[in-house]
Amino acid sequence: MNQEKGILVVFSGFAGSGKGTIMKELMKRYPDTYALSVSATTRDPRPGEIEGREYFFKTEDEFLRLAHENQMLEFAQYVGHYYGTPRAYVEQKLEEGYDVILEIETQGALKVKELMPDTLLMFVTPPDADTVFNRLTGRGTEDTQTINRRMAKAYEESNIIGAYDYWVINDDLESCVEEVHAIIQNEHSRTCRKKEQIKCMKQQLSCYVK
Ligand code: 5GP
Repeated sequence: MNQEKGILVVFSGFAGSGKGTIMKELMKRYPDTYALSVSATTRDPRPGEIEGREYFFKTEDEFLRLAHENQMLEFAQYVGHYYGTPRAYVEQKLEEGYDVILEIETQGALKVKELMPDTLLMFVTPPDADTVFNRLTGRGTEDTQTINRRMAKAYEESNIIGAYDYWVINDDLESCVEEVHAIIQNEHSRTCRKKEQIKCMKQQLSCYVK
């Protein structure tokens, strides 16, 4: 486990950007570095999704109760359903030194940044709009109406990419995963995250100054 507190990373992207796959791969390669937050949602499970692994699936009443009890770091509505980040896990893992990743949409991302300005915001997209569409239809799990809503949502979200710290293109999974990892790990070296260490270095040096 690391000694420093971890970095909170928000990872967003268009539906079909492959962000879930990138996150799974990052967790598989660097399990001692990253902790992936599991969100709560009111949408139905997709085939193959497991309670507590992809999401905690809640009724609307259950979800709103958790939100009112302040157990969510943030929550938002996305294409007709609620999604939210359980607070306790994030705070605990950051304290333990893990870089904690939230895979969430843009409204939630901006709320987290406002609440915790040290958060690193990363946005991922496929290389172009045709690929966004092809990946959504290729998934085979959504009906035409849902695909249309998700394409319209992507258009809307393209206005917000500029508010993120980094934009990563997922053309090739292998290089994209390593790019994301490198960006997050480089972030640890930024002087604004090293205030305590700089103070400590200065104090040590002061002993040599006659
Ligand atoms: P999906 O239904 O495809 O799993 O997710 C829909 C969108 O909700 C995605 O953009 C996903 O990143 C976002 N999302 C998932 N969990 C959360 C959350 O806890 N909070 C917010 N604000 N968005 C989330």
